[in-house]
Amino acid sequence: MTLTVETSWRSQFPMLMANPGVAYLDSAATAQKPQAVLDAVMAYLTSENANAARGTYPWANRTTARIASARAAVKSFLGAPDKSDVYFVSGTTEGLRAIALDWLVPMLSDGDEIVVPFADHNANVVPWLEAVEQLRRQGIRVVVRPMPYDSAHDYDVARLPIGPRTRLIAATHVHHVYGNDMNVARLRAAAGPDIPICLDAAQSFGHMPISVTGLDVDFVVFSGHKAMALPGIGAVWAANRRGPVFTPGGWSGSPNTAGIVSLHAAMDWLSSVGLERISAYVVSLGARLTSGLAGLRSYEVLGCQSSLEAGSTVQRRHGIVTFRHREIGSNDLGFILASDGLLVRADGHCQGSGGEETSSVRVSLHVYNTPQEVDRLLAVLTSLD
Ligand code: PMP
Repeated sequence: MTLTVETSWRSQFPMLMANPGVAYLDSAATAQKPQAVLDAVMAYLTSENANAARGTYPWANRTTARIASARAAVKSFLGAPDKSDVYFVSGTTEGLRAIALDWLVPMLSDGDEIVVPFADHNANVVPWLEAVEQLRRQGIRVVVRPMPYDSAHDYDVARLPIGPRTRLIAATHVHHVYGNDMNVARLRAAAGPDIPICLDAAQSFGHMPISVTGLDVDFVVFSGHKAMALPGIGAVWAANRRGPVFTPGGWSGSPNTAGIVSLHAAMDWLSSVGLERISAYVVSLGARLTSGLAGLRSYEVLGCQSSLEAGSTVQRRHGIVTFRHREIGSNDLGFILASDGLLVRADGHCQGSGGEETSSVRVSLHVYNTPQEVDRLLAVLTSLD
């Protein structure tokens, strides 16, 4: 595909327009916000701000209706059936924790097993261990089976440690360090139809089309702030077959109404650009960077070396490229790049104990990044080669 960024996309991000010398290459940490999201939040807060479900006056009714329509929008964004559930939470970490402690814990009994992806983000490791620890204190022993990985850092489904007592497989859609678009469909095929799969979609939601029916997963959890919404809002989607997950405050707690409005506006904006287009564009930008890095001797790229399309033996890398310089420490490299206006994530990446426990530099790209920014980064990296 041709790598022409549509200037109409980039120009909709006030933060980027206000800082023309800066290349923001840290979208996996958090994404910049388009004007449409900021406008939607401002319009809501200045025209009908009220608490939800307190419906004796129009603002409150409209706020309640906005939450219902945002919930419906999440389902449609995920290709989910109407008969499924969306719970708004503060983000992926809270969502995964809620599934682990509120849904999973009461379901487990002595001798049950769960599969935990130890090389994934800590947010998708720690809550499952917390659940196991809580049960241990009740005298219930749950066996933790580590998720096996192959040489491309994808799940090694041939060695998936499942059995009749497996009660959950925790998985990630796009890896936050290696950028792999993990082969979740193969995971389901290996697991069979009955074992619940919980998907951490923090790095895929808003970056590529997600179809919960296509992937046949049971839970999808994501953070709005990585998908151009405000910080402090995210959601858990749950398949109807898994029953109610939890009631975060129920209707006695106050929802993050402005956050929910921002999430709805962000999904609308992303849909207007088109998730297929976003995905293809981001993959090509990442490929431009990996092929540039491949020509430099001083750098070691973590994860798969290729951005081949799904269906090949090597997983597609999805706009996240993490690397190390053989002599310059990653923190130092981060500072050098920042002094050139190239904003990356440096050092550790909240990776679970199964990951490559080293400091590195992560470049993560979104639809507002340009091939010129990648080339600018490559020029500085080349000067340090
Ligand atoms: N999972 C993955 C794969 C992530 O990349 C992140 C954020 N770095 C999280 C979970 C946690 O997201 P949040 O901090 O928004 O809860």
